[in-house]
This record gives sequence, C-alpha cells and structure tokens, in this order.
Amino acid sequence: MPRTLLIVEDEDRLRNLLHCYLEREGFRVLQAKDGVEALRLARHEQPDLIILDLMLPELDGLETCRQLRTFSDAYVLMLTAKTEEIDRVIGLEVGADDYLTKPFSPRELMARVRAMLRRPRSTGEAPSPPPPLRFGPLTIDMARHEVLLADVPLRLTNLEYALLTVLASAPGRVFTRAQLLERVWGHDYFGDDHVVDVHIANLRKKLRDDPAQPTFIITVRGVGYRFGDAR
Ligand code: CA
Repeated sequence: MPRTLLIVEDEDRLRNLLHCYLEREGFRVLQAKDGVEALRLARHEQPDLIILDLMLPELDGLETCRQLRTFSDAYVLMLTAKTEEIDRVIGLEVGADDYLTKPFSPRELMARVRAMLRRPRSTGEAPSPPPPLRFGPLTIDMARHEVLLADVPLRLTNLEYALLTVLASAPGRVFTRAQLLERVWGHDYFGDDHVVDVHIANLRKKLRDDPAQPTFIITVRGVGYRFGDAR
C-alpha cells in the first residue's frame, strides 16, 4: 500500500510541482490550498505525512499544525522561509516534527520524507513484543506504542516517541546529537543538530522533567544526552 502524503501550500506552482514529483516517487498524494481544507482532508484521509507551508491564507501553518496535533499523529514537515522560526515550529506548542527552509530541492524534500517514513508507525505488530520498560512513574510500552506517566497516557508525536525509546532502551548510555540524528531521523538527514535539542526540550516538558535537574533525560555537557538510569 502506498503511503499517503498531504501537501498544504497556497502557491499553485509549487504545490503542483511537489504533487507531480512525489507521485512519481510512488506516493499517494493529496493537496490542500489552505489550513481549513488541510484539516478536513487530514481527518478524512489520515495521511502518513503532511508537508505544511507556514505561510497560508485563512489559517496559517502554525495554527493548522496546532489543530492537527489534537487529532493526528501524522508526521509534519513544515516549510518555512526563515531558519529563526525553527524553535517555534517544532516547539511543543506547534508540534511539527521537522522543517525545511525554502528554497529547497525536490531531492532534499525526498530525503526528509523518506527519513520520517522509515520510523515505525504506531502499530503493535512486532512478533514478540518486548516487556514494558519501567522507570519510576514512567512506563514505556513498546508493544502497545504507549507511554504512561503515573498511569496517565502521554500524547507524544512519533518523533518524540522514537527519540524516547532510543534513549530509554539503553539507560545510562550517552548518545551524541549525531547518533540521535542518525537513529531517529535517518542516515540521509542533513538538517542541523539543533532539532535534537528542541525535541528533547519538548519531551522533557511532556515528561514533566525539570530542565535544570532532569531525572529522565540528562544532558551530558559538550556531548549529548543519556537516559537517567535511577529507577
Ligand atoms: Ca505559502
């Protein structure tokens, strides 16, 4: 079954160009010209990944993404014109998984799309499900793709989930940003390290981890991150 992508862009030329390109790469492609149409399509068609332009009429990309996140865990790749917006775009409040700065080449877009789709989706179909990992109040149940904090399920994006499971599968082991990028984002990702920090900050907020004294995700200065091994 081909994966479904939704392109949300008001510029007709760019939207149609991306549509043709992605369709040729074997995806089922849907398109929307504004945020309202995007939300409607996302509800009905449940795309695997949404390419969302930041500047849109009616409802802008940030607000569209915020609303999307209330009902969809599709990957969201935000298209922006300014690199400075990255923190906000993939910040907790908006919740995009990644971003691409305009102008970009179709090849660059394809690399990002493929890296995202390579991550496992939320289906518990593993042949022998691993037992849940428990760390104090935190339970990570990979068989059910579920994370609980004090028995309350957390709503994590696919990317946050992938990041958490990589770290928590090897408590105490230090991962560099480059290693996390490779494992979570994929080999051919060529964005910058900073995305790791922003997603870690989001995860900490959801885990209610104090950034000054985190228990779960610990910063190893000058190196990267490790999962706290105190149970
Ligand atoms: Ca636009």
